[in-house]
Amino acid sequence: MLMLNKLFGYFSHDIGIDLGTANTLVYVKGKGIVVNEPSVVALNVRTKQILAIGEAAKKMVGRTPANIVASRPLVDGVVSDFEITEIMLKYFIEKVHKESFALIPRPRVVVGIPSGVTEVEKRAVEDAAKNAGAREAFLVEEPMAAAIGARLPIQEASGTMIVDIGGGTTEVAVISLGGIVASRSLRVAGDELNDDIIQYARDEFNLLLGERTAEDIKINIGSAYPSEKKSQTVMRGRDLVTGLPKAIQVDSDQIRQALAKSISVLVDSIKVTIEETPPELVADIMENGIVLAGGGALLKGLDVLISQSTKMPVHMADDPLTCVVRGTGLILEDIDALKTVLVKTHYKTPR
Ligand code: ADP
Ligand code: MG
Repeated sequence: MLMLNKLFGYFSHDIGIDLGTANTLVYVKGKGIVVNEPSVVALNVRTKQILAIGEAAKKMVGRTPANIVASRPLVDGVVSDFEITEIMLKYFIEKVHKESFALIPRPRVVVGIPSGVTEVEKRAVEDAAKNAGAREAFLVEEPMAAAIGARLPIQEASGTMIVDIGGGTTEVAVISLGGIVASRSLRVAGDELNDDIIQYARDEFNLLLGERTAEDIKINIGSAYPSEKKSQTVMRGRDLVTGLPKAIQVDSDQIRQALAKSISVLVDSIKVTIEETPPELVADIMENGIVLAGGGALLKGLDVLISQSTKMPVHMADDPLTCVVRGTGLILEDIDALKTVLVKTHYKTPR
């Protein structure tokens, strides 16, 4: 019997999911990360037919005819579109599960959710995971998963600060003894920075930019802190006056100014969280430093700016885009030891 259990355990594809607003990543126990795709679903609104999910759907953003929408169901970091979220989860779970035999038990699933989601939203994610084929669904707050993924000593009696900057939300959390002591969840993250660039181009040059173009500009020359090397790029879009294509050259200083306001909101929320943190833990953070995770953390100079504004050392997590999913994976590998970090839902599935 023991051997059979072991065998089942070996074949059972327990999975960890980072249901990010920008990217969904799936970790399979014993295998590692097997899915890393944009959280986008393209569907025909008339027939409700799903046309594409993930990478293929992202290519359609901004390029669809009237009856097709490429939607990001989690765009504000919460389950804003429950049905589509469920379809997306199902697609990713099946993608992993279908490779195994029908005899293999359905997977246990650990899903990362933004901190501060409501009870209703937690329930929505739990239901979505179960309807999508999970035998059991566990939830973990994203900053906790990110801290575990970054291999921070979350169980110790020492303060650890993690800032996870995603597409739709930024999560700031101080963790000690396996629990979140102080936290903030804000809607200023990577998407907002793209919007700032779109706004800037419109206000300064009457130039209408697409979302992808704005993101490319941010990644290529965007920054939070002045650097000695100035860089340039060309913004291509449509002239709002003539309606014709137009290209404008901009430099990194201009883009930094365009991003400054949102960045300062982000930095302020880190400062406020530190102010709410008990002094002993602040002393620990001063020693250990603030750890940055999420794709948004890759913005050039952000680490320097945060360090200067908070007077704390700042470290970038290894591979910041995969911290959360690696955290869910580490939880799966040792679910008994890490059960305490899981979110307790006050909801039982009706029988
Ligand atoms: P989420 O967890 O919400 O899905 P991610 O952690 O996957 O988000 O991060 C996605 C965000 O990171 C996007 O807004 C993207 O533009 C941004 N991003 C990715 N790489 C970079 C980079 N090199 N510089 C700045 N922003 C980046
Ligand atoms: Mg994330």
